[in-house]
Amino acid sequence: MAPLRMVILGRQGSGKGTQSERLTDRFGCVHLSTGDALRAAVAAGTELGRQAEAVMEVGGLVGDDIMNGIVRDRLARDDVAEAGVLLDGYPRTADQADALEAVLDEGGHRLDVALNIDVPIAEVTARMLDRGRSDDTLEAIQRRLELYEEQTAPLRDWFEARGLLATVDGVGAPDEVFERVVAAVERSRA
Ligand code: AMP
Repeated sequence: MAPLRMVILGRQGSGKGTQSERLTDRFGCVHLSTGDALRAAVAAGTELGRQAEAVMEVGGLVGDDIMNGIVRDRLARDDVAEAGVLLDGYPRTADQADALEAVLDEGGHRLDVALNIDVPIAEVTARMLDRGRSDDTLEAIQRRLELYEEQTAPLRDWFEARGLLATVDGVGAPDEVFERVVAAVERSRA
């Protein structure tokens, strides 16, 4: 089976994290979460971590050059060549999408699919309020969702224009959603 190269998109509270774990189990690919990579750098106290921490605290975006460098290095490793990759949290800007396309192209590769886990704003808001985390005030939730919309709507168009966007209905039990996600992956490689 040829290694898959996939992107997963979804609002906070869409179940994207759960679906990413299941997908990487099912298809055996490397899970590359740029949020996890940055959190690891913060925990390790590296120079990158120190720079990223301040930005992450205020919910901003770490610079494209830094993010593109992290992803480029990770994609160059043998495990990705052998097993494929699921990119989670990247690309987040058009510049990152262009950089991803360029780096894959250099290796003679392209993306197979961009999975968009679609859960309406009202539903993710209710889910986040339900889990009752202290940073989940209605105001904070709405701000994060607005930012996501601003940053990610153009990316949906970017993937759509390349015939890569697969929007999956993310409302329902995690098992049901996973079946839909797997079907979308299978269609992309058919
Ligand atoms: P996440 O876990 O994907 O929500 O990411 C947590 C935080 O890390 C984000 O709020 C950003 O500050 C930063 N981050 C993660 N991925 C990226 C990216 N691709 N570009 C810029 N900043 C990012």
